[in-house]
Amino acid sequence: TWGLVREELIKRVGRNNYVTWIEPLKFSDLKHGVARFEVPTSFFGDWVSRNFSDHIRAQLNTAGAQVERVEFAVANRPSAPEAAVAPRPAAAAQRTRSATRSADLEEVPGAPLDARFTFDSFVVGKPNELAHAAARRVAEGGPVSFNPLFLYGGVGLGKTHLMHAIAHELQNRQPHLRVLYLSAEQFMYRFVQALRERQIMDFKELFRSVDVLMVDDVQFIAGKDSTQEEFFHTFNALVDQNKQIVISADRAPGEIKDLEERIKSRLQCGLVVDLHPTDYELRLGILQQKVELYRSQYRGLVLSDGVLEFLAHRITTNVRVLEGALTRLFAFASLVGREITLELTQDCLADILRASDRKLTIEEIQRKVAEHYNIRLSDMIGPKRNRTIARPRQVAMYLAKHLTPRSLPEIGRRFGGRDHTTIMHGVRKIEELMATDSQLNDDLQLLRRQLQG
Ligand code: ADP
Ligand code: MG
Repeated sequence: TWGLVREELIKRVGRNNYVTWIEPLKFSDLKHGVARFEVPTSFFGDWVSRNFSDHIRAQLNTAGAQVERVEFAVANRPSAPEAAVAPRPAAAAQRTRSATRSADLEEVPGAPLDARFTFDSFVVGKPNELAHAAARRVAEGGPVSFNPLFLYGGVGLGKTHLMHAIAHELQNRQPHLRVLYLSAEQFMYRFVQALRERQIMDFKELFRSVDVLMVDDVQFIAGKDSTQEEFFHTFNALVDQNKQIVISADRAPGEIKDLEERIKSRLQCGLVVDLHPTDYELRLGILQQKVELYRSQYRGLVLSDGVLEFLAHRITTNVRVLEGALTRLFAFASLVGREITLELTQDCLADILRASDRKLTIEEIQRKVAEHYNIRLSDMIGPKRNRTIARPRQVAMYLAKHLTPRSLPEIGRRFGGRDHTTIMHGVRKIEELMATDSQLNDDLQLLRRQLQG
């Protein structure tokens, strides 16, 4: 059942969240209505429990299991073999353990690294060659040549992949280095937690004692004043000590709204490189590499000529979608035991092909709107009903209705499985408000402009 549930969860929480947070979960057992999972660290467990336990429980129940509660416990393996990919600061934090520190803060504050995101598996092409070269340079770990390295680009173009690759490489070359990788969202979460538990000094000490700090999706802290403030100080302290910093964002520093000027200018001090949208050659290269990987997994599967070229030509949205398409195609072909022909490809991937014909996806709309109103993307599709969340959600529904050819039920599905009447209500609500609310009109105009380029 867990296998099926996982499939369903990808749809619910998005692939990124899934890979980072759900995939690493190990199902232990289900007894007396309590489903137990093993997690790598208690920080991890805490995070999953806060953000995803409702989804997990709901899906388990949908799949027929009777679950009242989901629990996450750290596996008690003293020397886990996966330690090699675990973020370094685990050890560092433990070494500096002090009697006053609570069990919570001793935990690794970083995010788990994806073992698949290495330089070896990163296909280099024109659109990403500069970013790749810069990342390589940082990963060599020589004297700090540019600080920070700022990587930016659209969704699914390889920012996170490159950051993990840097972390892996640095740890292989210099195991003693304390490399800390985390998302800006996690940075904020740790910061808020430290404030709440009055452990801000520990927080500062921890973050300022790393050798390399990597913060992914830094646009997330825009508009979050005290987090920005803390980030700024951490940043400066590390730069002063000549420690390498790597930052990613979905746009250039100067274009991040609600980010303090002094932070923007700090971010621009080092090397700013962008990952351009993929071109045909790069997409084909990535597909070919993936197929090589699949060959061993799906022995005997025949791939017709022209299929990869077709996909590289048609799926231009982002690499994540491209990979997902190929994965589905191989799984499907092996299931039905047929050769992967162009025809089979078109059948199996009809929805993806249709979606990528359009420029704008509902996900992009949700992301933009969430950003604009400073709410979490997960809240867009989540159940919260308070107005600070519900209004932006309605705005996103409205835009999805007007800027994409999707039907109301389809939109509903993208909003965490809401009913089409809920979507209709949301759209109407915004239309009503537009008559009187000039701020809303401004917001909509700006969003439309941003979304339609
Ligand atoms: P971002 O962080 O920019 O949104 P990711 O780094 O998460 O994007 O990349 C999305 C997916 O695409 C990942 O599975 C990643 O491995 C893959 N990917 C992106 N660019 C490349 C590339 N040049 N070569 C191989 N895989 C890539
Ligand atoms: Mg990313």
